[in-house]
Amino acid sequence: MSDRPQTSAETLVAQGGGRVAEPYREIVEPIHVATTYERAPDGGYPGGAVYSRDQNPAYRPAEEMLCALEDGRAALLFASGMSAAAAVFRSLDPGMRVVAPHAMYWALRNWLIAFGNRWGIEVDFYEPDDAELEAQLELPADLVWLETPANPSWEVMDIARAATAARRAGARLVVDSTVATPVFTQPLALGADLVMHSATKYLNGHSDVVAGALVTRDTDAFWDRICLHRAQEGAVPGPFEAWLLARGMRTLFPRLRQASASAARIADAMAAHPAIGAVLYPGRPDFPGHVVASAQMQGGFGAMLSIRVRGGEEAARQVASRLSIFKRATSLGSTESLVEHRASVEGPGTRCPDDLLRLSVGIELVDDLIDDLEQALAGIRAGG
Ligand code: PLP
Repeated sequence: MSDRPQTSAETLVAQGGGRVAEPYREIVEPIHVATTYERAPDGGYPGGAVYSRDQNPAYRPAEEMLCALEDGRAALLFASGMSAAAAVFRSLDPGMRVVAPHAMYWALRNWLIAFGNRWGIEVDFYEPDDAELEAQLELPADLVWLETPANPSWEVMDIARAATAARRAGARLVVDSTVATPVFTQPLALGADLVMHSATKYLNGHSDVVAGALVTRDTDAFWDRICLHRAQEGAVPGPFEAWLLARGMRTLFPRLRQASASAARIADAMAAHPAIGAVLYPGRPDFPGHVVASAQMQGGFGAMLSIRVRGGEEAARQVASRLSIFKRATSLGSTESLVEHRASVEGPGTRCPDDLLRLSVGIELVDDLIDDLEQALAGIRAGG
């Protein structure tokens, strides 16, 4: 037995996966750009890879780190979070039943409605409430989708409770854990079958890569189908993007700890502000999902929050326009803080209130961020 200490996932990702590359003993993984790999005279593939559509060694560091972070059996990188999610749904057979939340990433919800129609999959939506999901799962189902905290109002769902109900209904549970991140929540340990991430967000963390990931608890027949989809369709990041992702993951823990602590401070400051009607943040004791979040999220409540501005849509848009440190942009999970008037991005049919501003808190000095919000809101109070 080895007397080396067992390495924690946090230590492993701080070292980018911890491998030393041959033949030069580089402590940073090189970028592998080849699209194809030489066969041995006997016809075998001694390097283990055949063709780079889904076998580029560039994916290995991030996939190994994801397995360690989520305590999964296997992981796959994809070209985007959307393509990772789509690979799951496209691995279902026509006639199967999906139960998905109204509160989920809006573009995926729209895609799922259209895809379900075309593919002959029955999709039933539930309000983000544990009892409502259980009621939907009194009928048999094949796949349950869950996002927690859910974009952009951050409703919290109880993953363990959903896993029990899903199992009883004969369904797999898949959790979009993009916002919770592996730093704060481990869905597989709570009973989920698959975890999905938009790696574009916190995993990469620098607003310079679009990527997605799936991690599985079991390498079963359903996982094999997902692998086949990726192999045949090649929805993979390029080698440089995969390398950047693995580099970004090195700082996952310190980034998330700082951003989450800052989000909690901003949430408290906004809750005390007279121009703010409501603060939506799982870390606030008055937030409806706080009790479940406290049990399910370890070490923090994440770095996403939303504020509802008194005065409605116009006031909310004014606040966004007056912010100067927060950048007005969609997306989330990077080192720089972002603000977004979410209803206008989602467009017609959105369920997002029009007075809501979504804040992605970065790692700037938190006092600068609070000052920025205060000055933007002070204008609103003076101007009415
Ligand atoms: N899931 C969540 C929670 C998201 O916020 C997003 C993107 O914003 C996605 C999935 C889709 O990921 P991507 O943009 O990488 O395709």
